[in-house]
Amino acid sequence: MFKRILIANRGEIAMRLIRCCREMEIDTVLAYSEADKDSLPVQFATYPVCIGPAKASESYLQQDLLIDVARKMECEAIHPGYGFLSENADFAEKCEQNGIIFIGPSADIIRKMGNKQAARTLMKQNQVPVAPGSDGAVQTLAEAEAVADKIGYPVLVKAAAGGGGRGMRKAFSKEELKSAYETAKAEALSAFGDDEMYLEKLILKPHHIEFQILGDSFGNIIHLGERDCSIQRRNQKMMEESPSKVLSSELRKEMGEAAVRAAKAAGYYSAGTVEFVLDQEKHFYFIEMNTRIQVEHPVTEMVSNVDLVKEQIRVAAGLRLNATQADIVLTGHAIECRINAESPERGFAPTPGTIEFLHLPGGNGVRIETAMYQGYTISPYYDSMVAKIIVHAESRLDAIRKMRVALEEVMVQGIDNNAFFQYLILYHPDYIRGNYDTSFLEEHMGELLEWHKAGVKGER
Ligand code: ADP
Ligand code: ADP
Ligand code: MG
Repeated sequence: MFKRILIANRGEIAMRLIRCCREMEIDTVLAYSEADKDSLPVQFATYPVCIGPAKASESYLQQDLLIDVARKMECEAIHPGYGFLSENADFAEKCEQNGIIFIGPSADIIRKMGNKQAARTLMKQNQVPVAPGSDGAVQTLAEAEAVADKIGYPVLVKAAAGGGGRGMRKAFSKEELKSAYETAKAEALSAFGDDEMYLEKLILKPHHIEFQILGDSFGNIIHLGERDCSIQRRNQKMMEESPSKVLSSELRKEMGEAAVRAAKAAGYYSAGTVEFVLDQEKHFYFIEMNTRIQVEHPVTEMVSNVDLVKEQIRVAAGLRLNATQADIVLTGHAIECRINAESPERGFAPTPGTIEFLHLPGGNGVRIETAMYQGYTISPYYDSMVAKIIVHAESRLDAIRKMRVALEEVMVQGIDNNAFFQYLILYHPDYIRGNYDTSFLEEHMGELLEWHKAGVKGER
């Protein structure tokens, strides 16, 4: 096993990784920015090393600097977490070239899956269903129009390099396609430095269903069931649960096998996620594979009792997976709420600032992942997600009840956050019935905001 790992990330995921390393008796080197000098991970890493200014491009994204620190500090491996360099094939390659193990799949695999339209083609060749769309990339608006005419409106214009819900726009008609194509392309260029575009049929009111994959370097690949991540705003997840209320055991088996087939097609190893949209008629379509640990991985950990980060580290060290598909038993129901420093009443605008008072929930079956503490100042430089609350209970309804209690216990003074907003979702009749899809938030926003302003608690 490794003796020392460099953590190339921050916030709650850095805490998650450090805790896991401490349990495995692995020392950690934490590369942090000046803005994070007072952060919790700095307190708990074995060797915190300041690598530069707040701006991610001058610190967390400095590939050569990170490699340098890893070498000087004699780290055998680097864990990239999620976001930042976690899906950067060039960085994984640099690690490989410098004799440092990148905790994730190989640079080759990241590259294969990183271009979403190329991944689509690979899936098609391996009998994994994809939505109707372009064969490969579209180079011009005229080409996009031709594809849209063929598959029919509405369509979704997507960036091949996209992530975090950015670089995609809907179009319901030829008139809308022009501006959708141009805005998506411009956004892709500024967000990813890459404006290659492709088209997919826009699936109306789908569920976002993703499967957690684990693989080792001996060719073993298993899945650990699904997560339903359909509560989204701007194509970004806010709440996730497992299992999904809309999958029958037959469909779960079919989608799980497709996810494993997808991973095998890429020669995958390490932890990864195969994402699908599921339409109203229960047809599913591959949308992308995330080649990293995911924000919502604890949901799967709660129902499977598998420590995904630990498995990632074991596999990176050349060990075999601890479990076969037959060993995976999923029990109970788990829900995650992402607590963001943002204002639901001001269009979810970020609300950086100092936390003057903080109380986070606890109790049986309640798990907290955070790097926040009372007195901590949330910096405007990074993602607004500052904590995750995950609950696990016997049934879905029990999990909903547990999460309501947990969210009611959240007390944050000094900054706005979305805990109460999510509490309200948990009382929405359609959510309770499981009658929700990716358009839920958009459709119920008015109602939820009214409740939010009124500050009404409990059943309605
Ligand atoms: P998940 O599927 O794990 O929920 P998200 O799409 O929410 O992933 O992204 C996780 C984190 O990574 C977020 O902080 C998001 O801002 C960041 N992220 C996602 N894609 C990219 C990207 N291509 N480049 C940089 N950061 C990204
Ligand atoms: P990202 O790389 O930004 O995570 P994804 O391709 O995973 O982008 O899509 C993000 C979200 O956008 C999905 O969870 C889903 O809600 C929506 N989406 C993506 N593709 C489609 C599609 N073809 N039809 C309908 N919704 C889609
Ligand atoms: Mg995605």
